[in-house]
Amino acid sequence: MDAADALIAVAARLAAAGNLPATSGNLSVRTGDPDGTIWLTRSGRDKGHLVRDDLLRVDVGTGEVIGTAGTAAWGKPSAETGLHLQRYRAVPSTGAVLHVHDPAGTALTMAAPGEEALVLEGYELLKALDGIATHATRVTLPVFPNTQDIEALATDVDAATRDGRVPHGYLIRGHGLYAWGDTLADASRHLDALLFLLGVELDRRRIA
Ligand SMILES: [Zn+2]
Repeated sequence: MDAADALIAVAARLAAAGNLPATSGNLSVRTGDPDGTIWLTRSGRDKGHLVRDDLLRVDVGTGEVIGTAGTAAWGKPSAETGLHLQRYRAVPSTGAVLHVHDPAGTALTMAAPGEEALVLEGYELLKALDGIATHATRVTLPVFPNTQDIEALATDVDAATRDGRVPHGYLIRGHGLYAWGDTLADASRHLDALLFLLGVELDRRRIA
C-alpha cells in the first residue's frame, strides 16, 4: 500500500466514525517522493469513499497542484490547503496532517466562547502523543476563531507554531481539529487520542 492508498484508508475510518460529515474535513500525507510534494484531498468529496483521483499532488513550496494519484490530471484542492502547507513548511519533519470536523471539539469550542485554548490534563491517553510519557501532564490546544479567510488563519497559526504553542494540534471554534505526525501512522494515532480526549472532556464538563 502506498501513501495515497494509506491516506484513503485513514479517511474511510475517520468518516465511518462520524468525524468527516457531509464531505467536510481534509487530509494530507507526504507522497514519499523526494520532490517536496503531498497528497491532499480534493474539495467536496465524500471522505468515506475517496478514490485516487481525489488525492491531488501539491507542491509544498509553491502550493501548486501538479497532478493526482489517479488518472485525472487536475482537481480543485481543499479550501483549507493553506493550513496544511503551513504545517509542512513550519515543521519540515511533519509527514501527515489530518483535519476533522469532530462533534466534541465543535461543541466544546462553542460552549466556551471565551476560552482561547483547551487544556487536557491528567489523562492516561495523553501518552499516545509524541514526547509524553506520563499522565501527569497537560496538553494545551489553542482555539483559533473560525473564518473563511484561510490565508489570515494560516498566518495566525504559523505565528503560534513558531512560538511553540501548537506542538500537538489546534482547534478552530465551531469547526474542527487539526493534528499531525512525522508519519501517517503517528498522525492517525495523535488524532485518535485527541478525539477520544475531547469526547471525554465534553462528557466530564456535562457531568460537572
Ligand atoms: Zn474544516
